[in-house]
Amino acid sequence: MKKLADRTSRIAGSPTMKVTATVDRLRREGVDVIDFGAGEPDFATPDAIKAAGHAALDANFTRYTPASGIAELKRAICERYRAEYGVEYAESEVIVTAGGKQALDNATLALFGPGDEVITHAPYWPTLTEQIKLADATPVLVRTHPEDGFAIRAKTILDGVTPRTRGIIINSPCNPTGALITESDMAAIAEVAVRQDIWLLLDLCYERLIYDPAPHNLPRLLAEKCRDLTVLCGSASKAYAMTGWRCGWAIGPANVIAACGAIQSHTTSNVNSMAQKAAVTALTGSQAPVRAMLDEYRKRRDQLHAWLTADPRLRCQKPSGAFYMFVDVSEVLSVDGLRTSMEFADALLAEARVAVTPGEAFDAPGFIRISYATSVDNLREGTRRLIEFVGRHTMSETRHGQ
Ligand code: GLU
Repeated sequence: MKKLADRTSRIAGSPTMKVTATVDRLRREGVDVIDFGAGEPDFATPDAIKAAGHAALDANFTRYTPASGIAELKRAICERYRAEYGVEYAESEVIVTAGGKQALDNATLALFGPGDEVITHAPYWPTLTEQIKLADATPVLVRTHPEDGFAIRAKTILDGVTPRTRGIIINSPCNPTGALITESDMAAIAEVAVRQDIWLLLDLCYERLIYDPAPHNLPRLLAEKCRDLTVLCGSASKAYAMTGWRCGWAIGPANVIAACGAIQSHTTSNVNSMAQKAAVTALTGSQAPVRAMLDEYRKRRDQLHAWLTADPRLRCQKPSGAFYMFVDVSEVLSVDGLRTSMEFADALLAEARVAVTPGEAFDAPGFIRISYATSVDNLREGTRRLIEFVGRHTMSETRHGQ
């Protein structure tokens, strides 16, 4: 086989997207699968947003736009962050990207390179570490712990700092744990960032999905403490049920955003023109659909948590944000049965037709991630199948052990 570039051997394809692809394939084959894998809203994009996309198409708004996005959308992003957080950003400090993923990738490529260490917290969304590697930098992983609710502590993050640290990536609410960083922990990290000139990248893709009132004004806090070191990455995908439209943004110092723009001008150019118009309506129109979806996710979270924790073999905490339940299944694993959470997930899909993402995807073996961005009926039936599966496997383990 001909040799590929070295960087391809350093990364692996997205394990979260793989689950979705497997479910897709099985469904096309006619298999009845309950999908707890998909990390995306099950809601339709709200009507007003869809109408704006249609209108853009009807008006033949179908050509190239500026590679970094249309001015109208940049203004809408600035306006939304002003309304939500009380921060002031200018158009030159915003780039429109293909989802939060490209925002993070642009920023990572613009800021980090060989010899640089970039800290992030595990369990993590796998794309974060792979993007660091694609930039030829080195990911440094620090651990958050289940007994501490996976809280993202300043001390944990700062323990990873060395003279080579160039960046810290914080994902809050966190995928897969749903944990938040507190403002005081963020402030303590910012103080060190200022002293040591460390870039702070915030992955805020789930920022509109926080269930209980908690002070989480990270943009304002960082704008006050270290605006010139902060890049905020956000997305229309989760808040507005717009995953397929591919629309996100990065907000940060003008020189960083200009560098992101140069990179994007040579990679993908602009986000598709209709999606940009739709995103303007999402950000400037009524925010009632965001609140309605959040209320529904909260109900599902509470219901799912009650069902799961009724079985003592499954341990999980109620997440503060995002739409994932991160479940400890280690009680069910054994040397002569299901040995890993990966095997657990594979067997659950094969035997019970329930798709979940194994903890290995997030560097957290022993766990599975259940997405509750699906109907209560699916949650009920999927949990029933899951608990039956767990019962079957723990019973056969007991028999083996006797
Ligand atoms: N963020 C989602 C997830 O974790 C979507 C898939 C992806 O882009 O990784 O499942």
